[in-house]
Amino acid sequence: MRPGNTVFSGLGTTIFSTMSAMAMEHGAINLGQGFPDDEGPAELRERAAQAIMTGPNQYPPSLGMPELRKAVADHDRRFYGLNVDWQSETLVTSGATEALADCFLALLNAGDEAILIEPFYDSYLPMVEATGARAVTVGLDAPYWDLDLEVLAAAFSDKTKLIVVNTPMNPTGKVFTKAELQGIADLAQKHDAYVILDEVYEHLVYSGAAHETMMALPGMRDRCVRIASAGKTFSLTGWKIGYVTAAPDLLTLVNKAHQFVTFTTPPAFQLAVAWGLGQGGAYFQNLATDLEQKRDLLSKGLAAVGFDVVRSDGTYFVTTDIAGLGYNGTDLDFCKEITANAGVSAIPVSPFYKPRDGGIGIPRNMVRFCFSKQPEVLEESVFRLKRYFG
Ligand code: GLN
Repeated sequence: MRPGNTVFSGLGTTIFSTMSAMAMEHGAINLGQGFPDDEGPAELRERAAQAIMTGPNQYPPSLGMPELRKAVADHDRRFYGLNVDWQSETLVTSGATEALADCFLALLNAGDEAILIEPFYDSYLPMVEATGARAVTVGLDAPYWDLDLEVLAAAFSDKTKLIVVNTPMNPTGKVFTKAELQGIADLAQKHDAYVILDEVYEHLVYSGAAHETMMALPGMRDRCVRIASAGKTFSLTGWKIGYVTAAPDLLTLVNKAHQFVTFTTPPAFQLAVAWGLGQGGAYFQNLATDLEQKRDLLSKGLAAVGFDVVRSDGTYFVTTDIAGLGYNGTDLDFCKEITANAGVSAIPVSPFYKPRDGGIGIPRNMVRFCFSKQPEVLEESVFRLKRYFG
């Protein structure tokens, strides 16, 4: 067989698929891959079902259904004070994953550099590298995940085309502070770099923390591509509806890639999400309150088992240091062991780093648990882990 594309042929299946399959095989509770364990809001599902029956069901406009594009513009004005023209500044994609791919394909050339902040979401690296660009990484360290702006400044070069900023951040649960965002923004302006804002967890932020978008900072409006996802905002991860906001010229560029990646996205889901984005403040507040209670339940439970639990301010995830349990193997071994023997699955953090010789700088002691599950399921998980480690 002739070799395939060098970026993809060297990869295995994603860590999320690997651990979900293993959880299934062992009948373990899956606290690995990030998804809620219920069906999502009935109102949205009813609207999507109705839209499938009444139509339209043929190709929607490539940029997205006007209803959803208007709702995205209204949402960005309501939550961030951004003045967004829906016709020239919004785009609907098949999930944030597609939006990210569109951005990399549309903005990067071979020889460019893209800065990724480790630990980063798994799709960034292969998609950056598939364009021929080089990923330059800057690491954050547990337990505070603070961004060292001097280290970041040293990562920029005259080849830097873009930086990806994921806040709230998967897998760390970090919410970037305004000072950090301002520091990144200053560097992006100095080096004339684009900023891809992966803000899929924008509404999953817990008390004490506040999500800010860099797009609203002075001088950043035309330099940022903001990406969000109905998967997280409406607890419907299988729907794969993403949306993008960017200034007209930048959006036009991103759309050049989108039109050949998927061209468009299923209309019924778009209509339901358009309705969802227009809901009152109580919807968004309840989403965060519910998840915050689940975060607390699992964080306390894991601490009682003996994990060193790192505070999570947002997302579906909490990370833990397994050294606290006296475990000396790798994070991957640990996740396999608890899946097979304790009946609870989790995700190792090391796959969220760029592979490098000797693995220098890649921690092997951090494990991520997903808390977007029913309270009884979280309680049972803690019970099983206590029984295994106790
Ligand atoms: N974002 C999800 C997570 O971090 C996984 C999505 C996927 O499986 N590709 O768990």
